[in-house]
Amino acid sequence: MLNTDIKQAVLDYSNGLLDLFFPPICVGCEENWVLRKHTFCLTCESELPRLIYHKNKTNEGYQRVSSIVDVESVVSFLSYEKQESLKGIIYAMKYGGRTDICYELGYMFGQQIANHVALDALIPVPLHHKKLKKRGYNQAEIIAQGIQKATNIPLVKDGLVRVKNTAAQARKSKNDRHKNVSNAFLNISPRQLDRMHIGIVDDVLTTGNTMIACANSIWEKSPNCKISFITVAIANR
Ligand SMILES: [Zn+2]
Repeated sequence: MLNTDIKQAVLDYSNGLLDLFFPPICVGCEENWVLRKHTFCLTCESELPRLIYHKNKTNEGYQRVSSIVDVESVVSFLSYEKQESLKGIIYAMKYGGRTDICYELGYMFGQQIANHVALDALIPVPLHHKKLKKRGYNQAEIIAQGIQKATNIPLVKDGLVRVKNTAAQARKSKNDRHKNVSNAFLNISPRQLDRMHIGIVDDVLTTGNTMIACANSIWEKSPNCKISFITVAIANR
């Protein structure tokens, strides 16, 4: 047995004991216990406000961005507006260190779309290195890891880098949001990406400006790519 296997076995065992005495609580209802390695109880999982964008090309998300950018498809998993508790969940994903939620929602999303999207690669919207250092993780990357696990679509972690450390989008007006992110990204793997159908992965689709900026920076150096937007949730603009 390798050293790392032993470490993993000890970790699994101690986590198992921990779960027995302090079972993890569901992130949705904050009441029910959850099964190991899950963040939602079965009730909350079944009540997630799922969308069927993968079966409907001209969905709300596609209509929102397709007049600005020539995307193949926009696929979102959950409707942000239909469930109040989702706001807290998304906040915990972004700022609360809950990488487990990012991964599990990514995995569930991946299971839903596995047979409906034909992507060659997933590229998470990157964080600026300063923000990454501060936060410790990129939520879009963990979501993409979950999608990758369920779909086997390769993840290109370093396809894009964020060269501008922009202020938080939520605090800005629509026009400022657009200016804020244009030229914020750089395609550093143009040869690898060329001719691929790429899914740009993010947590929430609002105006789509961040992903539009990512798409434009990919096309700048890899003009023959097809691009789709893949987000865990869609919110009102
Ligand atoms: Zn629950």
